[in-house]
Amino acid sequence: MSEVLILGEVKAGSLETRTLELLEAGKKLAGEMGGEFSLLLMGEGISGVADQALSYGPARVYKMEHPLLEGFKPDLWVAALEQACRKIGPKVFLMGHSFVGMEVAPRLSARLNSRLTTDCIDLAIDPEDGLLLRTKPVSGGNAISVFKSPGEPQLATVRAKVFKAAEPGDGAGEIQEVTPEIDESMIKVQSLEIVQEESVALDKASVVVSGGAGLGEEDGFELLEELAEALGESFDNVMIGCSRVAVDKGWISSDHQVGLTGTMISPDIYVAVGISGAIQHLVGMVHAKKIIAINTDKSCNMFKVADYGIVEDYEDVIPALMEKLEELS
Ligand SMILES: Cc1cc2nc3c(=O)[nH]c(=O)nc-3n(C[C@H](O)[C@H](O)[C@H](O)COP(=O)(O)OP(=O)(O)OC[C@H]3O[C@@H](n4cnc5c(N)ncnc54)[C@H](O)[C@@H]3O)c2cc1C
Repeated sequence: MSEVLILGEVKAGSLETRTLELLEAGKKLAGEMGGEFSLLLMGEGISGVADQALSYGPARVYKMEHPLLEGFKPDLWVAALEQACRKIGPKVFLMGHSFVGMEVAPRLSARLNSRLTTDCIDLAIDPEDGLLLRTKPVSGGNAISVFKSPGEPQLATVRAKVFKAAEPGDGAGEIQEVTPEIDESMIKVQSLEIVQEESVALDKASVVVSGGAGLGEEDGFELLEELAEALGESFDNVMIGCSRVAVDKGWISSDHQVGLTGTMISPDIYVAVGISGAIQHLVGMVHAKKIIAINTDKSCNMFKVADYGIVEDYEDVIPALMEKLEELS
């Protein structure tokens, strides 16, 4: 039976959110091709997370355990992944467009002589020929292209937050051991340090209050901070986002930027203040559960995606909103 395989990534003993999103994508593709989806986990001491993964409904969790696979060693991971793909023979193999995916996917593609499409924002199976349709932004985000190519496995890396995360349920799948044939002589890169700078984890926020050029000046963000603080009384994890223009003007650092070249987010609530709703911005926040827009221009794009819109100067609206929040608390 045709199989969609997903490369799992694990952090602190649990599946990364991006892996849950890939499981959702895998389930959809498996449905479209009338096949199954499975998860591949690599590392050492991963039995607990393999058991946990079964609850997301894969037909199989392939467990590749080896002391040398502990931590991320690209040369060994690529070698082990090549062996796994040759053994399992998946029709489609999905990886996150993450540090790990971006490192291993191109090398795997060369070894398996199968074309890779990176940074996909949508995936589907072509009902005509069963090939993977891989949608991704091109020309600096000004156009969206759909790619298709023959060969197996069909390889793609997938952008975070474009699929919703799979929910746990009753899994009836099984765990299968796959033994990697690897040794230290395969390691070319002797040491790899992943330096994670402290940054704003916008994609983890439940509420994002975001400002754009319409704030008029850097100080506008102070008002947004006050609103975020007031919302923080009722919601966990309220953060400040922004449009690219706000970053370009030097009002706020780029790790707050939402959109195509910023962070893709899907918070419970997104408050867009003085943001027009350019496509490059919308693509990063349109999956928010509720969108509230404040803008003086009633014809702006942001109102087309907003659940609630206020046509008014933000300097009048935000103090009024805070007053209302105060009354309600
Ligand atoms: C390759 C590429 C990648 C890009 N990536 C991104 C990205 O990741 N994220 C991103 O955001 N952009 C990105 N952009 C830029 C994008 O095209 C827009 O230029 C940008 O999003 C516009 O930002 P803005 O809405 O803040 O500004 P504007 O488009 O200038 O809109 C300002 C809005 O504020 C409103 N306004 C004015 N005064 C007030 C007031 N007092 N109260 C309330 N509203 C007011 C106006 O009516 C207007 O709608 C990218 C562009 C390119 C070409």
